[in-house]
Parts: sequence; C-alpha cells; structure tokens
Amino acid sequence: FSIPFPKNEPVLEYRAGSPEREALKKAIKELRSQELDIPMTIGGQKVRTDEKMRLSPPHDHKHTLGHFHYGDKGHVKQAIRAALAAKESWEELPWTNRATIFLKAADLIAGEYRAKINAATVLGQSKNAYQAEIDAACEFIDFLRFNAYFMQEIYEKQPVSDNGIWNKLEYRPLEGFVFALTPFNFTAIAGNLPASAALMGNVIVWKPAFTQIYSAHVIMEVFEKAGMPDGVINLIFTDGPETGDVIFNHKDFAGIHFTGSTGVFQTIWKEIGKNIQKYVSYPRIVGETGGKDFVVAHHTANAKQVATALVRGAFEFQGQKCSAASRAYLPQNIWKEVKETMTEMLAEIKMGSPEVYGNFINAVIDEKSYDKIANYIDNAKKDKNVKVIAGGNHDKSKGYFIEPTVLKVEDPKYVTMCEEIFGPVLTIYVYPENDFEDILTLTDQTSPYALTGSIFAHDRTAVELATKKLKNAAGNFYINDKPTGAVVGQQPFGGARASGTNDKAGSYLNLLRWVSPRTIKETF
Ligand code: GLU
Repeated sequence: FSIPFPKNEPVLEYRAGSPEREALKKAIKELRSQELDIPMTIGGQKVRTDEKMRLSPPHDHKHTLGHFHYGDKGHVKQAIRAALAAKESWEELPWTNRATIFLKAADLIAGEYRAKINAATVLGQSKNAYQAEIDAACEFIDFLRFNAYFMQEIYEKQPVSDNGIWNKLEYRPLEGFVFALTPFNFTAIAGNLPASAALMGNVIVWKPAFTQIYSAHVIMEVFEKAGMPDGVINLIFTDGPETGDVIFNHKDFAGIHFTGSTGVFQTIWKEIGKNIQKYVSYPRIVGETGGKDFVVAHHTANAKQVATALVRGAFEFQGQKCSAASRAYLPQNIWKEVKETMTEMLAEIKMGSPEVYGNFINAVIDEKSYDKIANYIDNAKKDKNVKVIAGGNHDKSKGYFIEPTVLKVEDPKYVTMCEEIFGPVLTIYVYPENDFEDILTLTDQTSPYALTGSIFAHDRTAVELATKKLKNAAGNFYINDKPTGAVVGQQPFGGARASGTNDKAGSYLNLLRWVSPRTIKETF
C-alpha cells in the first residue's frame, strides 16, 4: 500500500453549541472529578512506586488532578532493558506496520480521543480550547501523518543501479536505544519526539517534563490502543540528572531527541562528549532549544499588521513558545499606530482559567517559571530607562497568572531584549526610521539564538535586504507574518546557533537523523 500525501488536520472552531465545545466541556468535567493515578509504562507493564507526586492545573494550583509514580535509577535501567528487548522484533516489522500504528494513533486523536487529549492539555498545561486544539489535536495528528508519508518517501529514495550491479540503501534504525526528553509547552512535541524516532524503527526511553505528564499519559494510552508493541516506547518519570547518569553512561545509547532549554541541552552534550568512548556508535544529538525571536519592521510596514503579529506572536500560549515574538524593532513613523492598535487589542484580551471559553491568556506553567518571568517584569518596572506600555501585573494566589506585558526600552541591548524569558513579555525598541540597515545588524548580533524571526515591509528591496542580512539569525523566517505557528508539512521547524541542531521537526530532514543507512552492492 502507499501512503497518500496528507492534508493538515482542520482546526475546529469551538463555537458556542458546537459538538466539539460540548465534548471538551464534558471531558474537562470528567477529568476534574477524579484524581488520576498515573504509573510509568515499562515494557508494556504499568509500574507504580512508593513515591507519588501531585499534579495540579497551573491556573488552579490548589486542585489536585492526580498523582504520578516517581521512579529511580533502577527504573531507568529497566526501561533501557525493555527497549532493547523489543528492538529486534520492532526492527523486523515491515515498515508499513509501523506506519499503520502511527496512522491509527492519528485517527484516534482526530476522533474518539480528541476531547480527552485536549482536556488533559487544558487542565495540565493551562491552554485554552483553541490552543489545545492547535497543539494536542491538529499539530500532533499532522506530525504522525506527515512523518509516515515522509518515511515512505525516504525508503523509496535509492541509489542508481547499473547493468550487472544492484545498489541498495537499507535505512536501518540506529543500533541501540533513543532517549526522548520532552518539554511541557507542546503536547504535540512531547508526543512527536518519541514517535518520530520509533516510526523509523527505533526503540525509545521517553521522559516527559513533569508538568506535561498529565497529557503524556493520554498519549501513551493512544499509542497502546493503536497497537504499539510492548517495550517500543517506555515512559518514565524520573529525576533529570539521575536519568542522565544512567542513559549517557550506557553503551547502547544511540541518540537523544530533545526539546527544552539551551542550558540543559549543553549539559547533555558535554555529558555525551565525556562518555563518547563508551558508545557502540556516535550518538545522534537532535535538539530544539531556546529562542529570542524577533520582529523587525521597516518604515513601509503596515502598522496594524505589525501590531496584530506582535500581540499574537508574543502572547498566544502565554508566550511559552520557543518561537514567541519577544523583541521588536519598530521604526519611529509607525510606532504610534502600532502602540494604539496593540493597546486596543490588549484591552479586549481576557486573562483567566482556560476552562472558561474566551480567556485568551491563561496561566504560565509553574511557580518556577512564574517567579522567573515576574522577576524580569519587576526589574523592568524599577528601571527608569524602561517604560511599561501594557500589563506588568502578576498574581500567583490561585494560579500562575501574568499579564501580557509590553516594555519599551531606550537601550536595544537591555536584558529583556537579549535573554529568553519564556513568558508573556514583549520588549520593543523604537529606532529612527533611516537606520534600517543598522537595525538588521543589531538584530543579528543581539542574541545567541536563531530560531524564528519576522520582517514586516511593503518595500520589496527592504524585504530582500532583511532576508539577506538575517540569513543566519533564524531557522524559520517570516515575511509580513508573525514568527510563530509553523504548520507541519508547510513550514519545517527549527533553528541553529543556540536554538538547536536545526533538524526541522515536521519534515523528512528530522526522520533522516533516526536512521543509519547501510549501502548494499551486489554484482552478478
Ligand atoms: N512550532 C511552534 C511554532 O512554530 C513552536 C514550538 C515550540 O515552542 O517549541 O510556533
């Protein structure tokens, strides 16, 4: 059989009275009314321990959603053993079977699991219905379907054969196991990191961020229901450094699929380097890390368009996207209109529980994030060279709520223009409109990251100049659009410099990292 080119999953609208809105409401109510007991899954077995940790909604931290079972080094070892035990039969399964499992998982999420996975994302990660739909449903479904298609394309790519000589590339999975270390901010990414490597025939030890375990649990249920054999993906809830100790010391460690902070990724890289002689093969290191994503406007840009892109790019998903617009360079001539439009838009935005339809801004993920973000805001408020244009308040009494905050700075290298905040904070520098070319240089040189960025201009020569001068400043570059919201199969996603290894999630380029091809030549 042959997998047809997929279509992106349509985003449901959740209008009042729509079946999807009713289904989500019901699923949220159901999940809220119980305390889940969440075990690890190792070799298909549900593993419970004596140590349990509590999960609560970031927007309502007094409520208990459930508890997960916390494991130790022994569980990490057990997960590796289970993965390696499953390897041979998983590898030998014809690829169409692997595709079928993941395509089935996509269909389950598109259908009977849609409300549940979205509800778990609303409650566990404080995303509103629309954000959960885009992430946990559509993007995840797209990853699963497109990856299956891309796998087929990869397998079909074969070298030239000649008269009397047959050549073949055998796309073997890696020798060993792959470690998936996944983030809280996207359910789709958390699911895709183990899934894409497993799809290519690898066996996986998967450790999600604790703050995403509530929806990771649903993902695992979907994989199992779709027919994933025991041991192919092993889900563990263990301490980071302890897990690293076991994983990176293991001779069969074959690769890591990571999304998370730059700091953690660099520590991991060093750890792998330190152990390099222990491994059977050089491990694949694939990571998407931080960002300090920019919006640059030219004096010919449309002010309203820029304002909309800034509000959506900076504040959707509470700015907890590595692609979020977090620094903007605006020319003096459009500043007033951008500011007015943004202020009007922000005045209409409601902050509150994602369980209430219409709340655009929800809580940030946990107290640690809240404190970090609040600290940047409070310091800015005290600085006489920084003006708070909007927001600036925060409150963690019930949930971790931070107002969408816009800062305007005199110094284009002020700390919030340079460092990743990972929250709803946008910093703006207004420049004399003739300095466009210098501003492009400044944009390029202000942060170590290079994930996403946008240029707004009507003048095509300005677009051209920015595209050229910002060539290495972003892995995803947007012209007259916000720097967020890459769609699988349409805008392969990833950045370079301190933002990652740029292995483009949602494209065949990512899948190629999970194979170690063998060339076979036969002469006859
Ligand atoms: N792919 C998402 C986007 O384009 C961002 C993913 C992330 O934050 O890790 O906005």
